[in-house]
Amino acid sequence: MVRPFVHDVPATRVIFANGSIARVADEVHRLGGKRALLVSGRSEAPFAATIAGQLGDRLAGEFTDVVMHVPVETARQAVNAARDVDADVLVALGGGSSTGIAKAVALETHLPVVAVPTTYAGSEMTTIWGMTENGRKTTGRDAAVLPRTVIYDPELTLTLPADLSAASGMNALAHLVEGLYAPSVSPVLAAQAEEGVRALASALPRVVADPADLDARGDALYGAWLAGWILGTCGMGVHHKICHTLGGTYNLAHAPTHSAVIAYATQFNEPYAPEAMNALVRAFGSAGRSAPDAATAVWELARDIGAPTSLGSIGFDAASIDEAAAIVFAGSPTNPRPVDLDGVRSLLGAAYEGARPVGRLA
Ligand code: NAD
Repeated sequence: MVRPFVHDVPATRVIFANGSIARVADEVHRLGGKRALLVSGRSEAPFAATIAGQLGDRLAGEFTDVVMHVPVETARQAVNAARDVDADVLVALGGGSSTGIAKAVALETHLPVVAVPTTYAGSEMTTIWGMTENGRKTTGRDAAVLPRTVIYDPELTLTLPADLSAASGMNALAHLVEGLYAPSVSPVLAAQAEEGVRALASALPRVVADPADLDARGDALYGAWLAGWILGTCGMGVHHKICHTLGGTYNLAHAPTHSAVIAYATQFNEPYAPEAMNALVRAFGSAGRSAPDAATAVWELARDIGAPTSLGSIGFDAASIDEAAAIVFAGSPTNPRPVDLDGVRSLLGAAYEGARPVGRLA
């Protein structure tokens, strides 16, 4: 039986190919851009130089002061930078932090964005913006921030170190898990999410074994594209609310936090989302990773690729569990399992410990 759904998705032009960084200037031109502001972080400097060379006199300026979680002050500086050079298009090069800064500028200026992602975060495919002020992260959706073109070039991910690749891959996986159990997921999005899980579960161990394996990098980036697509088109649940809280309030690194929490969010929801759990087990099985249940499959993947499986290991203090749980609960996340304060506490407690998830989470 097909469950009721509303399928209402935005359109983004997606270019996926090795070497496609060479097409950035064409895509800027296609959008009518004559004065681009290039936003990129320090690690992306060599690729930024390539893009700057391509753009030539269409490059109006560069913004390189990228900071994780988009502090409002940084967003303001980036908006001013765009205005100072009279930019008419934004090029976001890098991980979710670069994309996030470009989105903050687009939110204010409505300039079109060409995104060139270099991690698996997925922000490039969404209308979601995020900003942090006074220790609280605020997110919202606005069509103005959705990149008009996304250029996925697996070659740009070859330099992403194994540990960052593993954590970022688990961040992508978390979008797919929560998309699969989102109340509004349509059958076509569910099939795409399942394909994304299969691609990531197959690719990430190969990426970590050999970060220079371009085929594995391509498969992982393909999974990350699907993950970003699902993040942008399906509502997310308690897991994303927890990770935003931990990032915004305790400044924990984004991808490692997702990695540490997702197995326990899966375990928390397991009895309430049987179809999603079956899809996850099936997808992991297709990638050659059979497991007795979805939470175990997720946890074993993180363990095998050396991604964080516990909040304790990434600097979260157990003394903050009650406070964090209260913030998450107050945010009343939409989630298959009703979210109460004790439930979030127990989820955070399990994620803090990081043990193999067994049975039902109280
Ligand atoms: P990030 O952008 O901070 O990148 C992590 C680190 O990897 C940085 O030091 C960066 O310089 C480095 N790096 C990136 N690409 C590299 C490469 N190819 N080679 C070597 N080093 C490289 O982190 P992230 O995990 O990509 O993104 C996290 C941010 O994105 C968070 O602020 C999160 O909230 C946001 N986000 C937003 C959305 C959304 O839809 N709005 C979705 C996902 C993530």
